[in-house]
Amino acid sequence: MIVGLAALARLANAQGQATPMRVNSLGRDSYWIEGGVGSNAGVIIGKDGVIVIDAKQTPESGRGLLAEVAKLTTKPMTHVILTHSNLDHVDGLASFPKGLTIIAQENCKKQMENPRSNPQNIDLRDYLPTKIVKEKVSLTISGVRFELLHFAPAHTSGDLIIHLPDQKIAFTDETIVKFMKEPLSKDYPRRPLSGDLAAFDGATRSAALVAAPA
Ligand SMILES: [Zn+2]
Repeated sequence: MIVGLAALARLANAQGQATPMRVNSLGRDSYWIEGGVGSNAGVIIGKDGVIVIDAKQTPESGRGLLAEVAKLTTKPMTHVILTHSNLDHVDGLASFPKGLTIIAQENCKKQMENPRSNPQNIDLRDYLPTKIVKEKVSLTISGVRFELLHFAPAHTSGDLIIHLPDQKIAFTDETIVKFMKEPLSKDYPRRPLSGDLAAFDGATRSAALVAAPA
């Protein structure tokens, strides 16, 4: 089942007006949250804490995302995993609590450190990635198994696909435009992927796929 492609149709929201937040369950304590300003976000409630995937585009929308998470659980948010560095996925971090473990691909971190990739001029110095992924890593956070997969070239040079093999869910950015009939826009042409294509196949074919567009 591919959940996320419908979400791609909501690309227009990425740069636009805030829309109401809506929480969508993926089962097994996993959710994707649309609305606010910016991309969709993922939420996984683990044994002891919450893992959030991407942070929306503005501090207001980041706060709105946290408010929705707080309605789902009283467990603390401990980790953020970033699909990539585009502002509509990271600038909402500015309203997140400090001291979180923030996981990203190493090029994503470099881009977040570079003022030119921060057109909204949001101060993210306290929210730079604290744990770096280069190619592929398997890890368990709060009892939940994750496979973090990096492919290049893809949407940016610092993308991660976040695959939950037990839940059969993958959270991805526009890297999956490879599978769309039409590119999202001229800025996101379909590009060949290199890297561990077997892992990519595993993540995208077996999973309910939630795209976090833009
Ligand atoms: Zn993007």
